[in-house]
Amino acid sequence: MEWKEILLSDLSWSAALEILIRTLLMFTFVLLMLRASGKKGVRQLSIFEVAIIIALGSAAGDPMFRQDDAIVPSLIVFTAILVFYRGITWLSARFERFESILEGDPVTIIKDGQIELNNKGNSPFARDEFFAEMRAKSIEHMGQVRLAVLETNGTVSFFYFEDKDVKPGLPVLPDTYETACTHIAGDGLYACCYCAHTLPLKAGKHQCPRCDKKEWVKAIDTRRIT
Ligand SMILES: [Zn+2]
Repeated sequence: MEWKEILLSDLSWSAALEILIRTLLMFTFVLLMLRASGKKGVRQLSIFEVAIIIALGSAAGDPMFRQDDAIVPSLIVFTAILVFYRGITWLSARFERFESILEGDPVTIIKDGQIELNNKGNSPFARDEFFAEMRAKSIEHMGQVRLAVLETNGTVSFFYFEDKDVKPGLPVLPDTYETACTHIAGDGLYACCYCAHTLPLKAGKHQCPRCDKKEWVKAIDTRRIT
């Protein structure tokens, strides 16, 4: 095994300089292209935008260091992506149907403190991730949430109950599932671990009347302090 061959191959000073110039050029083109796309930031990308970024990255990366690759073909790719992106955005803005095929639709995930279930009785999203999202918004339990909507860019919009309307609900703190049980020790208010349905239960085993699961955790009803 030849380390020099692996690390440098036939890299010379002039080749290194060329790579430097190519990189600066391509980087500038990428920046210009992103500015021209009309997007203000990239904190949250839709699926469609991620696809664009991947295509862009591939077209931009190779000519940076491959001396056999000319730069103009890449610029043609850039232009094609840009025109395509602007075209699709234009269509999305005018035709709602088109937009929902491309980016999906917003989904209601919590309604009145309970997790919305699809017609198979499952929740339509990854719960752990979503619980983390709730904690980031200082939500302690589901009873504080009147409505939560998963937007197409992956963020969740929350709408809260007023303090006086907060009801007991499923805690979303990390230790919630450590205290979950299938056999309830004492009478009290319990929330279904799966769908957050909350009801008074007596000691013993119970099945959730809403989602048929059998795991419960003690409901809490703290107010939202922000
Ligand atoms: Zn349930």
